[in-house]
Amino acid sequence: MSDTIFGKISRGEIPADIVYQDEAVVAFRDLNPQAPTHVLVIPRKPIPTLNALEAEDAELVGKLFLAARKIAEQEGIAAAGYRTVINCNAAAGQTVFHLHLHLLGGRPMGWPPG
Ligand code: 5GP
Repeated sequence: MSDTIFGKISRGEIPADIVYQDEAVVAFRDLNPQAPTHVLVIPRKPIPTLNALEAEDAELVGKLFLAARKIAEQEGIAAAGYRTVINCNAAAGQTVFHLHLHLLGGRPMGWPPG
């Protein structure tokens, strides 16, 4: 399976501003934040895109969202509201091919997204 910069972050091989981690997921601040809070939540397992999810990953996907919920509370954005986004492949603008959930908050969000 191909390695990515996020794989290296999850293994501690390159630095990141980590805000949460457990046995299944790692969460760190985006290098180019699009909101006052912009955290990326990734599984330690290197799944390239949503298209590659298998039935056996169902619990892991739940853990991504449970981590996002925890981090939103930690960041003080849970009550006001926040957005979670997973980009899949080129048309959605995915640039790093290790599954990641964007957690964005701290400002009002427009809809539809760009
Ligand atoms: P995508 O467009 O694939 O959904 O999102 C990739 C995100 O990863 C982008 O928001 C980008 O700013 C962020 N990013 C890319 N490389 C790095 C890095 O080395 N460290 C961190 N913390 N974020 C990165």
